Amino acid sequence: MEITANNPKRKSWLNVNENSDFPIQNIPFGVFITRDDIITIGSRIGDYAIDLGAFHQLGYFDGIPLTDDMFLQDNLNDFIADGRKTWRLVRNRIADVFDVKNGKLRDNPAHKDKIIFRIDEVEMLLPVAVGDYTDFYASKEHATNVGSLFRDPKNALLPNWVHIPIGYHGRSSSIIPSGTPVRRPVGQTRPAEGSNTPGFGPTKLLDFELEMAFITTDANVLGERIPIEEAENYIFGMVQFNDWSARDIQAWEYVPLGPFLGKSFASTISPWIVTLDALEPFRVANPKQDPKPLPYLQQKGKGSFDIHLEAAIQPEGGAETVVCQSNFKYMYWTIAQQLAHHTVNGCPVESGDMMGSGTISGPTEDSFGSMLELTWKGQKPITLKDGTQRKFINDNDTVTMRAYCQNDKVRIGFGECSGKVLPAKL
Ligand code: MN
Repeated sequence: MEITANNPKRKSWLNVNENSDFPIQNIPFGVFITRDDIITIGSRIGDYAIDLGAFHQLGYFDGIPLTDDMFLQDNLNDFIADGRKTWRLVRNRIADVFDVKNGKLRDNPAHKDKIIFRIDEVEMLLPVAVGDYTDFYASKEHATNVGSLFRDPKNALLPNWVHIPIGYHGRSSSIIPSGTPVRRPVGQTRPAEGSNTPGFGPTKLLDFELEMAFITTDANVLGERIPIEEAENYIFGMVQFNDWSARDIQAWEYVPLGPFLGKSFASTISPWIVTLDALEPFRVANPKQDPKPLPYLQQKGKGSFDIHLEAAIQPEGGAETVVCQSNFKYMYWTIAQQLAHHTVNGCPVESGDMMGSGTISGPTEDSFGSMLELTWKGQKPITLKDGTQRKFINDNDTVTMRAYCQNDKVRIGFGECSGKVLPAKL
């Protein structure tokens, strides 16, 4: 089926600012609460939120097989479970109805009043009920940096890393939408020099991790795997992902089973899911893989996307400073490889599952995706615009991530993924 929604020439009768992340070619999906306290599934064009529950009730999806209550829900799981054909029909129809040449809704003020809200009139909620969340470790630069800092610079990359998209099972209950404050976590840390008793208290090394995450549909039953060439059919779209990390808690707990409480206190996502279809014009090759992966991980064609990523720190009352600029395309293992690997043992993947990429660091020092790497474990503090320095994240700092794709025709973005750090509760 043709993705007519992606037509770069299309313009909307809704006003879209030139540098908007949400032109009519994006048509992301999210969940919001309206000024009338109604929770609905929606989309966005420019600075307008589109209530897809009302859009459907008023007949604008006529001819597309959808259940009556498909969009009158507080998450996208059922819609996502309907599969890629439905996603494409729905996105194409929204693009068609909001096309500048289409007067059906444009010239119906009563319907517009029910369907269209200003974005500042709605509150964004989590777009999916995340059943299971996995975080990968798929950036070679990041794994090399962390291996050097935590273990041994000479053997920074463990032998399995170039053969396996390394991951761990995370905690879905603490995934929160952009704008939700993050409480500085308390936990155990390594005993001080000469002591046998671990430290305990608020983390001193609170960090962000610049990541993206993909969201799946129902993909396979227990015992069956997803072949690599089919994997992308089961990926609905992507969000930005800040995998907040407490480095001192992490360093003490992570051997032998990997990250636990140093990660599970909060993970912030951007609230609009940008579909894989919308990202299609920005497809690029991932880094060359040497050695060649095993056959079940060999992917033909371009498996990555050119998505500009950045992270910024804003002290309370101060100006924001961008501290790193990276790109999704630096990621060594692709999302298809991650999903094929995740299911090779027969583990089922469900609608609304979320898979983090792992921190996406680039090759240069200003493209590292965490404070751990940017300040090299605090040895090289960053000076912010207000003159203060940061080794890690302070109380009352707001960390904001942004992500967008841009070519000479269109810009497709993810909006913001933001969280303010509150002092620990003692
Ligand atoms: Mn992570």
